[in-house]
Order: sequence, then C-alpha cells, then structure tokens
Amino acid sequence: MARSALFFLLMLASIASLALLYPFSLRRSLLALLLYSLGTSITLFLLFHPRNQWLVANRSRVDRADCVALTFDDGPDPIDTPRLLDLLREKGVKATFFVIGKRAEQYPEIVRRAWDEGHLIANHTWSHPNLFCFLTPRRLRAEIERGSESVHRSCGFRTSYFRSPVGLRHALVGPYLKQAGLEFISWQIRSYDTVIANPSVLARRILKKVTGGDIVLLHDRLPSGANVMLEALPVIIDELRNRGFGFALVGSRENQ
Ligand SMILES: [Zn+2]
Repeated sequence: MARSALFFLLMLASIASLALLYPFSLRRSLLALLLYSLGTSITLFLLFHPRNQWLVANRSRVDRADCVALTFDDGPDPIDTPRLLDLLREKGVKATFFVIGKRAEQYPEIVRRAWDEGHLIANHTWSHPNLFCFLTPRRLRAEIERGSESVHRSCGFRTSYFRSPVGLRHALVGPYLKQAGLEFISWQIRSYDTVIANPSVLARRILKKVTGGDIVLLHDRLPSGANVMLEALPVIIDELRNRGFGFALVGSRENQ
C-alpha cells in the first residue's frame, strides 16, 4: 500500500510542477518542463513496462529451464480457440489461457474443454478494459473479482493467476491482487502476433529470442482472426522440441 501512496504522490507532484509556469519566466518554464517530463516518464514507465516489479510483483518466467510456457490471451473465441485446442492436442502441448471473464460466460464449453484437456485457465479481467491503469478502485476490484468468478464458473477451478490487459499496471493492482490471492503473470517474449501478418516472420521472431523458462505472450482471439498465429504455431512447437524444450504451464492446476 505504501508504494501505491508514493505512486499517487509522484503523479500529483508531476502535475503540481506545472504551477511553476506562473509567473512566466524562461528559467521557471524550463524547470517546470523538466520536472513534468521527468515525473511523467517515471509514471508511464511504472504503468506500462511489462516486467517492472515496483507496483506489483510479477513473474515472466517459469522455474523449469528445460521448458517454455506458451500463454494465450483474450479468448475464448468460438472459432479460433477450438482450432488452437485441436492443434495443441495433436502436438501434445499444454498451455495457459488468460480468458476474458465476459467471453468465458458466453462460451463456457470452450473454457471447460481447454481445462479438461490439461491446460491452465487464468484471469484476464472481466471485460478487458484497455484503460486498465486509469480504472476507479471500485471498477478495478470488480474487474479482478468477476474475472476470477467467471473462470471458476466455467471450469470449477479457482485460478491463482492474473494478467492485466496489455500487461498494464494500476496503482492499486498490487494490494488488490494480494487480497484476491492472485499472482500477476507477465511475459518474457512478446510475440507481436497482434500486428505481424506473416506466419514465418512471427515464428522467426519468437524462435530468435526464446530461451528456457520464458513465458511467451500470444493471442487466441484477434480482431482479424488468429490465422497467422495458428499457422506459425506448429513451426514454433516443432523447432522448440528440436532444441530440446518441453512445454510448461505458468503455474499449478491444483487449487492452492
Ligand atoms: Zn489481452
């Protein structure tokens, strides 16, 4: 909680530094600009950097150096998630699905299937608010709690794992996750499957960077469909196996 308070103070101090603009003088203006830019840069870094530990402790790797953990965000999708599950079953790979609560309510049978086939289901908020870092405390709490309830309703599992939309932080996310018994899971490899339109480029990008224990961020639901990811994935899985890697979940399927 102390860090949340410090973070709020930093935000307020950055804004308050603009008071130096009045009465106008060149020296005061430059000082105001410097303090405001510095405060804002630190604030943005703390909110947006996926692996910084300051506002909430988070994990971007798994303990096993002989494994890679594939994670799929934003589903379930009625078309692409079952296609992905078919592919994972065919390849004998287990993965972690960060589901959006609202969508899990719409397609509980898909979440249930993923769970029954040995994958791990985790909380990716209730409605995936893109401005996660600016939510009111009440809405933040509701997004976290409703996301967990939805996972529980869909597959009977009380998840211990959470990832925010785009990995964004919030000043209060640390204390709220602690209360909810959730661990924040980040990633080591961002695949950029949201923007890369060529399966070979996507596979190459991941394979060039990945090392043992890395958590990889992918999406099983995208506005234009997950075809590129679905085409790249068999190449990625086969090559990782050639390199001697197995596939791990980001955490346990046992309720803690
Ligand atoms: Zn997401």
